[in-house]
Amino acid sequence: MTRVGIGYDVHRLVRGRPLILGGVRIDHDLGLEGHSDADVLSHAIADALLGAAGLPDIGNLFPNTDPSIEGISSQEILRVVAGRVREAGFEIVNIDSTLVAERPRITPHLDAMRAALSRSLDLPGPRIGIKATTNEAMGFIGRGEGIAALAVAGVGAA
Ligand code: MG
Repeated sequence: MTRVGIGYDVHRLVRGRPLILGGVRIDHDLGLEGHSDADVLSHAIADALLGAAGLPDIGNLFPNTDPSIEGISSQEILRVVAGRVREAGFEIVNIDSTLVAERPRITPHLDAMRAALSRSLDLPGPRIGIKATTNEAMGFIGRGEGIAALAVAGVGAA
Protein backbone atom coordinates (compact mmCIF):
# COMPACT_ATOMS: atom_id res chain seq x y z
CA MET A 1 0.00 0.00 0.00
CA THR A 2 1.22 3.47 -0.88
CA ARG A 3 0.04 6.53 1.00
CA VAL A 4 0.58 10.23 0.41
CA GLY A 5 0.58 13.21 2.74
CA ILE A 6 0.47 16.96 2.23
CA GLY A 7 2.12 19.75 4.19
CA TYR A 8 1.95 23.54 4.12
CA ASP A 9 3.70 26.12 6.26
CA VAL A 10 4.32 29.83 6.31
CA HIS A 11 6.54 32.04 8.48
CA ARG A 12 6.93 35.79 8.74
CA LEU A 13 10.18 37.48 7.56
CA VAL A 14 11.68 39.74 10.20
CA ARG A 15 14.93 41.56 10.97
CA GLY A 16 17.43 40.06 13.37
CA ARG A 17 16.85 36.40 12.57
CA PRO A 18 18.96 34.05 10.43
CA LEU A 19 17.30 32.72 7.28
CA ILE A 20 17.35 28.92 7.32
CA LEU A 21 15.64 27.02 4.51
CA GLY A 22 15.91 23.28 3.97
CA GLY A 23 18.58 23.10 6.65
CA VAL A 24 20.79 25.65 4.90
CA ARG A 25 21.66 29.06 6.32
CA ILE A 26 21.23 31.63 3.56
CA ASP A 27 22.82 35.06 3.64
CA HIS A 28 19.95 37.58 3.67
CA ASP A 29 18.93 40.77 5.48
CA LEU A 30 15.80 39.12 6.92
CA GLY A 31 15.10 35.78 8.58
CA LEU A 32 12.03 33.75 9.47
CA GLU A 33 10.32 34.25 12.81
CA GLY A 34 9.31 31.24 14.88
CA HIS A 35 9.72 29.16 18.03
CA SER A 36 12.18 26.82 16.28
CA ASP A 37 14.68 27.92 13.63
CA ALA A 38 11.50 28.57 11.59
CA ASP A 39 12.68 26.52 8.60
CA VAL A 40 9.44 26.68 6.68
CA LEU A 41 10.45 24.12 4.05
CA SER A 42 11.44 21.51 6.62
CA HIS A 43 8.18 22.10 8.51
CA ALA A 44 6.06 21.53 5.39
CA ILE A 45 8.02 18.34 4.69
CA ALA A 46 7.56 17.16 8.29
CA ASP A 47 3.80 17.61 8.06
CA ALA A 48 3.64 15.83 4.70
CA LEU A 49 5.50 12.84 6.17
CA LEU A 50 3.39 12.76 9.33
CA GLY A 51 0.20 13.01 7.26
CA ALA A 52 1.27 10.19 4.97
CA ALA A 53 1.86 7.96 8.00
CA GLY A 54 -1.43 8.97 9.63
CA LEU A 55 0.38 10.57 12.58
CA PRO A 56 -0.50 13.83 14.39
CA ASP A 57 0.96 17.00 12.88
CA ILE A 58 4.15 18.86 13.73
CA GLY A 59 2.33 21.25 16.09
CA ASN A 60 1.28 18.23 18.13
CA LEU A 61 4.72 16.69 18.16
CA PHE A 62 6.59 19.96 18.79
CA PRO A 63 4.21 22.46 20.45
CA ASN A 64 5.38 26.07 20.08
CA THR A 65 4.44 26.56 23.75
CA ASP A 66 7.15 24.11 24.88
CA PRO A 67 10.11 26.17 26.17
CA SER A 68 12.38 23.10 26.10
CA ILE A 69 12.39 23.13 22.29
CA GLU A 70 12.82 26.86 21.78
CA GLY A 71 15.29 27.42 18.96
CA ILE A 72 15.32 23.73 18.02
CA SER A 73 16.88 22.92 14.64
CA SER A 74 14.28 21.79 12.16
CA GLN A 75 16.75 19.15 11.01
CA GLU A 76 16.34 17.62 14.47
CA ILE A 77 12.58 17.83 13.98
CA LEU A 78 12.95 15.99 10.65
CA ARG A 79 15.13 13.30 12.25
CA VAL A 80 12.44 12.69 14.88
CA VAL A 81 9.64 12.76 12.30
CA ALA A 82 11.40 10.29 9.98
CA GLY A 83 11.93 8.02 13.00
CA ARG A 84 8.25 8.17 13.92
CA VAL A 85 7.21 7.40 10.35
CA ARG A 86 9.52 4.37 10.25
CA GLU A 87 8.42 3.21 13.73
CA ALA A 88 4.83 3.33 12.42
CA GLY A 89 5.86 0.71 9.85
CA PHE A 90 6.43 2.83 6.76
CA GLU A 91 9.37 3.50 4.50
CA ILE A 92 9.66 6.93 2.95
CA VAL A 93 9.32 6.64 -0.83
CA ASN A 94 9.75 10.24 -1.92
CA ILE A 95 9.19 13.88 -1.09
CA ASP A 96 8.40 16.74 -3.39
CA SER A 97 8.22 20.34 -2.28
CA THR A 98 7.95 23.94 -3.41
CA LEU A 99 9.24 27.07 -1.71
CA VAL A 100 7.35 30.27 -2.47
CA ALA A 101 9.57 33.29 -1.83
CA GLU A 102 9.97 36.64 -3.54
CA ARG A 103 13.51 37.11 -2.21
CA PRO A 104 16.24 35.91 -1.89
CA ARG A 105 16.92 33.75 -4.94
CA ILE A 106 16.57 30.13 -3.84
CA THR A 107 17.83 28.22 -6.86
CA PRO A 108 21.57 28.54 -6.04
CA HIS A 109 20.91 26.77 -2.70
CA LEU A 110 18.79 23.85 -3.89
CA ASP A 111 21.61 21.29 -4.02
CA ALA A 112 22.79 22.15 -0.50
CA MET A 113 19.21 21.93 0.79
CA ARG A 114 18.71 18.52 -0.80
CA ALA A 115 21.96 17.29 0.77
CA ALA A 116 20.94 18.56 4.23
CA LEU A 117 17.44 17.08 4.01
CA SER A 118 18.88 13.81 2.72
CA ARG A 119 21.08 13.55 5.83
CA SER A 120 18.30 14.46 8.25
CA LEU A 121 15.75 12.09 6.75
CA ASP A 122 18.27 9.33 5.92
CA LEU A 123 16.76 9.36 2.43
CA PRO A 124 18.70 9.37 -0.88
CA GLY A 125 18.88 12.83 -2.45
CA PRO A 126 17.22 11.79 -5.73
CA ARG A 127 14.07 10.99 -3.75
CA ILE A 128 13.82 14.57 -2.51
CA GLY A 129 12.36 17.20 -4.83
CA ILE A 130 12.71 20.90 -4.04
CA LYS A 131 11.40 23.61 -6.34
CA ALA A 132 11.27 27.35 -5.89
CA THR A 133 9.03 30.00 -7.31
CA THR A 134 8.07 33.59 -6.57
CA ASN A 135 4.54 34.83 -5.99
CA GLU A 136 4.82 37.20 -8.99
CA ALA A 137 4.95 40.18 -6.59
CA MET A 138 1.40 39.53 -5.38
CA GLY A 139 0.09 39.29 -1.84
CA PHE A 140 2.04 38.92 1.43
CA ILE A 141 4.70 36.76 -0.16
CA GLY A 142 5.07 39.16 -3.05
CA ARG A 143 5.53 42.05 -0.60
CA GLY A 144 8.29 40.09 1.14
CA GLU A 145 6.37 39.73 4.40
CA GLY A 146 6.85 35.98 4.57
CA ILE A 147 7.87 32.74 2.89
CA ALA A 148 5.62 29.74 2.33
CA ALA A 149 6.34 26.11 1.50
CA LEU A 150 4.27 23.19 0.23
CA ALA A 151 5.26 19.54 0.32
CA VAL A 152 3.94 16.12 -0.47
CA ALA A 153 5.36 12.83 0.73
CA GLY A 154 4.82 9.27 -0.37
CA VAL A 155 5.30 6.36 2.03
CA GLY A 156 4.89 2.60 1.63
CA ALA A 157 4.55 -0.31 4.02
CA ALA A 158 8.10 -1.26 5.05
MG1 MG B 1 6.41 26.21 10.95
